[in-house]
Amino acid sequence: MHDKTLTELQAGLAAGDFSARELTEHFLNRIQSLDGALNSFITLTPEQALAQADAADQARAAGQAGALNGLPLAHKDIFCTRGVRTSCGSRMLDNFISPYDATVVERLQAAGAVMLGKTNMDEFAMGSSNETSWYGPVRNPWDTDRVPGGSSGGSAAAVAARLVPAATGTDTGGSIRQPAALTGITGLKPTYGRVSRWGMIAFASSLDQAGPMARSAADCALLLQAMSGHDPRDSTSVNQAVDNYSATLDQPLKGLRIGVPEEFFPATLDDRIASTTRAALAELEKQGAILVSMRLPSVDLSVPAYYVIAPAEASSNLSRFDGVRYGYRCEDPADLEDMYKRSRSEGFGAEVKRRILVGTYALSHGYYDAYYLRAQKVRRLISNDFAAAFENVDVIMGPTSPEQAFALGAKNDDPVTMYMADVFTIAVNLAGLPALSMPAGMIDGLPMGIQVIGNYFREAQILNVAHRFQQATDWHRQAPSFGETATAKGDA
Ligand code: GLN
Repeated sequence: MHDKTLTELQAGLAAGDFSARELTEHFLNRIQSLDGALNSFITLTPEQALAQADAADQARAAGQAGALNGLPLAHKDIFCTRGVRTSCGSRMLDNFISPYDATVVERLQAAGAVMLGKTNMDEFAMGSSNETSWYGPVRNPWDTDRVPGGSSGGSAAAVAARLVPAATGTDTGGSIRQPAALTGITGLKPTYGRVSRWGMIAFASSLDQAGPMARSAADCALLLQAMSGHDPRDSTSVNQAVDNYSATLDQPLKGLRIGVPEEFFPATLDDRIASTTRAALAELEKQGAILVSMRLPSVDLSVPAYYVIAPAEASSNLSRFDGVRYGYRCEDPADLEDMYKRSRSEGFGAEVKRRILVGTYALSHGYYDAYYLRAQKVRRLISNDFAAAFENVDVIMGPTSPEQAFALGAKNDDPVTMYMADVFTIAVNLAGLPALSMPAGMIDGLPMGIQVIGNYFREAQILNVAHRFQQATDWHRQAPSFGETATAKGDA
């Protein structure tokens, strides 16, 4: 059952081939027997999952099955889940049991989905390798000595290893797309404002966006449908009708103009990543798409602009974790100041502290104009580049990541090397655009991903391009051999 996509499982449930309970038990068993080697989950919720599965089976019997009825999912541990620990990958929130559900969680549950547990992530979603988690690194099922990417590395590894058919992630600078690329799955970051951020622990509020991570574009369409829509509790959630994402998946690509920016193929890019990306573009060309070479002149400034704006917002968002109202509090504080200081120094890890320091500095009097304001101006230039590009093209494509999954520990000495992992993804967040990553080839036994960027609220078009590509190729069907021998006995 774990080889099936969400769409196939949905059909199997509808046909009565298996029940939601059977499906849930199957995946829970897989997680219990295999996740020791990956560490992709922080918390498992088997009792709640089985209760939700039984409720889904009953709803189906009563003729009231929701769109995702009985389908197992996992949530990144950044989404608040009522009655369940919500740690955000941090010691600071290790003891936090959320009293409410995030809108995304609520909506997926209302559609009938079954939550199996909460996935591991970089601490407060800061990272590109899932090594900053308080709960330890996540390993890549294609090669357990390598990282799965980050910060949604737990969701990516769990989906790639088929421990769960799909999961949620969040993307502030690439955290859905980059781990999707490094683990060979499909992930979509929606337009800023398409999906509610309510109950999603804030990292950089003007950039954060939740989205689906799954085995195919069709599966992402299914999930995005349930996740999207206006939420009066999030003032940045946009009140605009949600397209029917599954309805247009099959549309022919004839005449589609695909922009191919020079900046996404720098001279330093790994040749094999460049040629694999070009081969994928040629496949779309074969289907009638037209490749248009173009420029995004300001996009090279996206990493430096992001590393001013994101830490600035993070330093403000993370000031609420002070050991007073909830979260970690140090032992035996001498006085109030000692309690603040020690709770925050003991509760946060090194990368989070680095960002708080950088952000506080960039926002401080005398530096605000030189850094923060300057970065905001660059952000506008980047948005303008995309706006100009979308006058001539329908989508923009290139590689998702400049490299494939790298070894654990390989980039831990130099934060800037790690920051470069998102060189192709960050501009999209600064502009607030939607973008998807999907597998487009294998190099040295490891998956590589390509990115499809669309104009605002054109998620349907991105999914259409990705689905047509996946109809013609089977890169998205490749799975790591991870766990095959271990599960050969019990599995159907
Ligand atoms: N890797 C980037 C960072 O560390 C992006 C993280 C994200 O998208 N959450 O900030």
